[in-house]
Amino acid sequence: MHIPFVDLKIQYQSIKNEIDNAIEQVITETAFIGGKYVQQFEKEFADFYGSKHCISCANGTDSLYIIMKMVGIGIGDEVITVANSWISSSETISQTGATPVFVDIHPNYYSIDETLIESKITSKTKAIIPVHLQGQMCNMTAITALCEKYHLFLIEDCAQAHLSEYNNVRAGLTGIAASFSFYPGKNLGAYGDAGCIITNDDALATKCKMFARHGALIKHQHVMEGINSRMDGMQAAILLAKLPFLQKWTEQRIANAAYYQKILNEVDEIILPMVRPNTKHTYHLYVIRAKQRNALAKFLHEKGIETTIHYPTPLPLMEAYQYLHYSEKDIPVSAKYKDEILSLPMFPELTELQMNYIAETIKAFYTK
Ligand SMILES: *Cc1c(COP(=O)(O)O)cnc(C)c1O
Repeated sequence: MHIPFVDLKIQYQSIKNEIDNAIEQVITETAFIGGKYVQQFEKEFADFYGSKHCISCANGTDSLYIIMKMVGIGIGDEVITVANSWISSSETISQTGATPVFVDIHPNYYSIDETLIESKITSKTKAIIPVHLQGQMCNMTAITALCEKYHLFLIEDCAQAHLSEYNNVRAGLTGIAASFSFYPGKNLGAYGDAGCIITNDDALATKCKMFARHGALIKHQHVMEGINSRMDGMQAAILLAKLPFLQKWTEQRIANAAYYQKILNEVDEIILPMVRPNTKHTYHLYVIRAKQRNALAKFLHEKGIETTIHYPTPLPLMEAYQYLHYSEKDIPVSAKYKDEILSLPMFPELTELQMNYIAETIKAFYTK
């Protein structure tokens, strides 16, 4: 049996008509840049999500950068984010001229440890970027309170958290603005790069839209210099075709996680994902912690099961951030867990047969 880490082919087969029609329409109408599908996606995603504005952009990295730039973050500022994430979360801070400040992860939930944030706040701090990693939201009660106390912007990185909830509030609806990625493997994935910003702030929405379109809302009237960050019409039409399935796919991920929990529960050598109270974990990733992680991953690969590590090196320990002089002592949990975490196959169409095989193979490894 071969089990990919994510199976995008099987999902395409299940909605082939919808996708093929969407692509054909974009080509027939030559609605490549801007145009009706992009507008319709912005409207439908905002309505669907319960946000006032959606600004589409080229990817989920640009969307973070655009938000920070447009709330006025720049040289001399500091922005707090988490030690374990994809580099977009921190490189966009640097792109504005500000300095990323890294906080260690929570030992149970693997996203920013809210109890460690306050000691990192200085007079230069302008914002906190919680990353709702793996599909599970951060402690928004604590983070919101800190942002209010110190007058900081709360910017949510929701790249892995479409439809995740904290106290019945969806990811992306608490902060001043939120960033989403539609990278193909994300819970709502395009067939190329795409991303968006959601916000309820009218003025910020206008600024972000303008900045992402060369500083002009009306062609040739450049109010400022901006960047070129557009979602193309093809991606918008594909995302529109997929959006009606997102709820169902999310429930399937949750059901798959419950099944994994049931069949892997008795394996003492691994620790299964823990769900933060009052949250809806949407399992963009299903991350376990395993004894002899590398040997287990190798064994699974030999048996046809593909796994990955999110992420092998915590951000502050990367070469790119050597100039900030972090060491393992500054982020002990991230430093320890990097050798233990393993992301098992997770996608809506994963079958019980496949999960049974994965569980049997893991058990076989530990009884070898
Ligand atoms: C995927 C991802 C991004 C960036 O998204 P792209 O669309 O690939 O630019 C940002 N943050 C996190 C946590 C991500 O997982």
